[in-house]
Amino acid sequence: MQPTTPLGDLLASPRYLPRLTENDTKPIQRALAGATLFDDGVSLDGVVVEAAYAVAEPEVLDHLREQRVPVLIDPQSLRLSTPAYMSNTRLGSLPYLPSAPLTPSSSASDRDHFVADALRFQQKVGATYYLVPSIPLRNDPGWAELHHDLTARAASANGREVDSRELVALLAPGSAALRSPRAFVSRLLDLPIAAVYAQPLALDPITDSVDKLARVWSFCHELEEAGIPVIAGRVGAFGLVLQALGVSAFDSGIGMGERYSWADQVRRPKPKQDDKAAGGGSGKRIYLEQLLSTLPAKVVEALLRLEGVRGRLVCNLGCCRVAGHAGLVDRRGEHYLFSRVHEVEQLRAQPTSSLRLHEVHQHLLAARDLAAVARRGLKDLGDSEAPAPTFSHLETWLSLLARAEQLKATEAPVN
Ligand SMILES: [Zn+2]
Repeated sequence: MQPTTPLGDLLASPRYLPRLTENDTKPIQRALAGATLFDDGVSLDGVVVEAAYAVAEPEVLDHLREQRVPVLIDPQSLRLSTPAYMSNTRLGSLPYLPSAPLTPSSSASDRDHFVADALRFQQKVGATYYLVPSIPLRNDPGWAELHHDLTARAASANGREVDSRELVALLAPGSAALRSPRAFVSRLLDLPIAAVYAQPLALDPITDSVDKLARVWSFCHELEEAGIPVIAGRVGAFGLVLQALGVSAFDSGIGMGERYSWADQVRRPKPKQDDKAAGGGSGKRIYLEQLLSTLPAKVVEALLRLEGVRGRLVCNLGCCRVAGHAGLVDRRGEHYLFSRVHEVEQLRAQPTSSLRLHEVHQHLLAARDLAAVARRGLKDLGDSEAPAPTFSHLETWLSLLARAEQLKATEAPVN
């Protein structure tokens, strides 16, 4: 058996890790297989599989193992610090659920059992690296200590309760932790961790302000500067902007306009709505690499009716090479995977960080130009089912690139 890729090697250059749930079985299988006998499937650098999906031991996990794709299992432990999980049917099948929510008052033995059981589960379903089952860094007293304690317990259970694997710390900062990452970073450096999975508790890269996105980047940057590679959670196309600014990797769900709201996630589920709240809304959505946007299918169909736009939205990747735009809505999952992998590959091909920054900057400028044309076209069409998106995130992300560069310049030692 080939040795596992060390995490440091994997994260030494930009990576995209798709986040897999039970809704993604078909697109991932089709994308791995390729569109025809003559097409190669998509080549994945790694995946993040939600525990509630992994628990059913889906066949797709075997395929990923055969293709030696590194697997991280998201223990979904951020949801276990309030009672909401107790009435959630999807989470109910996880074998390591604590009998009461994990809080700063949880006992030492409850913490130990929880951590060991969660790691055992990850080992059983084939995790390549362990993701520490941890809790949100809420603003109230006691949560930072609980977070550190769970991470330390995972480190000591690693190799004792389970086979030894590299450990990824889970850092889910609330607003206070996001403002002052330094304290967390220095404590983490005392523990044997290989990387951090960072998931801000409230993040919407499409509508958040430049200030907010700058704090998210600074948080990741602080870790990277300390030599800890970061996987940024559920960021969608914003992941490219983070990577242009030195963040190693990101994950995002397939075909989603990503955002994350922990508060929505732990709200008691409304009937039939369950997990949609955290996933960025319902409805079919299609990712357009040229616009760095995941748009409702109706809007994409309208864009493909526009003369001056259609030709600029051609996809030559394995997902669409044969079919062109026909049936794109039914291939949106594969198209998402191929597109996202492709844009990160483009970035990885740039040998220096300044060239990566340049690449993403140019991509954003081109997207902004095309967005202006697309908006005019959609307004002229006047189709009420396909309203023109604002695409304002492109401007926000361009501002962030400029601001982050200034911040980095002021960080440099002055002689
Ligand atoms: Zn495509």
